[in-house]
Amino acid sequence: MRYLILVPDGAADDRDENGKTPLEEAHMPVVNGLAARGFVGQVTTIPEGIFPGSDAANLAVLGYDPVADLTGRSPLEAVSMGIDMSDTDVAFRANIVTLVGDGAYGDLVITDHSSGDIGDEEARQLLKAVNDELGAGRAENGGRVAFYPGVSYRGALIVSAGEPTVTGIGDVSEEAAGYWLTPPHDILTKRIGDYLPTGEGSGFIKELMEKSYDILKDHEVNKDRVRRGLNPGNSIWIWGQGKKPALDSFESKFGITGSVIAGVDLIKGIGICAGLESITVPGATGTLETNFAGKADAVIEEFEKGKDFVYIHVEAPDECAHQGNRADKIESLERIDAEVLAKVVGWLRKDGEPFRVLVVPDHRTPVALRTHTMEPVPYVIYDSGDEQENAGALFTEASGENGRAFGSGAELAKYFFGKK
Ligand SMILES: [Zn+2]
Repeated sequence: MRYLILVPDGAADDRDENGKTPLEEAHMPVVNGLAARGFVGQVTTIPEGIFPGSDAANLAVLGYDPVADLTGRSPLEAVSMGIDMSDTDVAFRANIVTLVGDGAYGDLVITDHSSGDIGDEEARQLLKAVNDELGAGRAENGGRVAFYPGVSYRGALIVSAGEPTVTGIGDVSEEAAGYWLTPPHDILTKRIGDYLPTGEGSGFIKELMEKSYDILKDHEVNKDRVRRGLNPGNSIWIWGQGKKPALDSFESKFGITGSVIAGVDLIKGIGICAGLESITVPGATGTLETNFAGKADAVIEEFEKGKDFVYIHVEAPDECAHQGNRADKIESLERIDAEVLAKVVGWLRKDGEPFRVLVVPDHRTPVALRTHTMEPVPYVIYDSGDEQENAGALFTEASGENGRAFGSGAELAKYFFGKK
């Protein structure tokens, strides 16, 4: 048996003034064909009291507990960047940001959380300069602090348990999970002194941020950026910390192995932490320009290699919804159906081995709201060995409401993988 889970991120939505949701308006013959010969229902991926983030929602769809198993976004990103985290390490996001003003560090104002979406190479040079001065290697080298470049402004900081080497404070990695660090995109145009880390043990983080400014403010890369009229990346902003989640392996939960195909680090990191293989597809960007066909080919390749299960996540509908672009959201849904699902399901049928497909958004992202919401999402389950008579069923919010409701992603996953 082969298992395919397709997640069109944020696909579920609300009706517009013409009385239709994007899923109702999009032409999606393949998934609706599966619905008519399978099951449609709805699932509550986001439990009460949890922020409906993609981290929590994708953990839920994979059958994990988005409350107990989620320890933050940064460790998932760090794992997907190839950083080997121990159970006692703490990962932070180390944004490269733009500060303006004169005087003391605390009097500066943050104007850009991404330094004008700084390029990977410039970001790498800046983080290297910071790491050369402030990094102290990792625990395995007898040190405890290391900065790593990521995509654009999204660096990572890993702090390992052990003796302090930068400043004389307590065990940061034990403390770090406890204090609140402010996301830089929430305080644009504000004086940073009001948002710097506070609380026991956080002085160490504040000191790293302040020293990074001394290192970066006159760096050659930044002088050059200013000459080109671009925002300098003149400070590191540290936030979003967490330990690596201790997930039971997917294989131990469901008895099968598999791969994750995603364009975003967060989803790749969840897959890796679950013991799944993360496949990188060239041109898989997470936008409407993403390489849909390349992703479909990658799914087929994984099945050909003998994987029992492939999880394919497509970010584009969510991204279009965040931009408030309904037409693009509909186009992204139609392309997922025509360029991904049609190809993969066609191959599965031709290959002949029995297969099950689950199509389910991780959460809703209504175009009108441009943000995630908590309501249940529709799902479609199709089993090639157990076809149903379900004419009229569709992959839509309304159709889902008439079907079987699952109270959590874990219950849906158990049903999908365990169904006899
Ligand atoms: Zn989103």
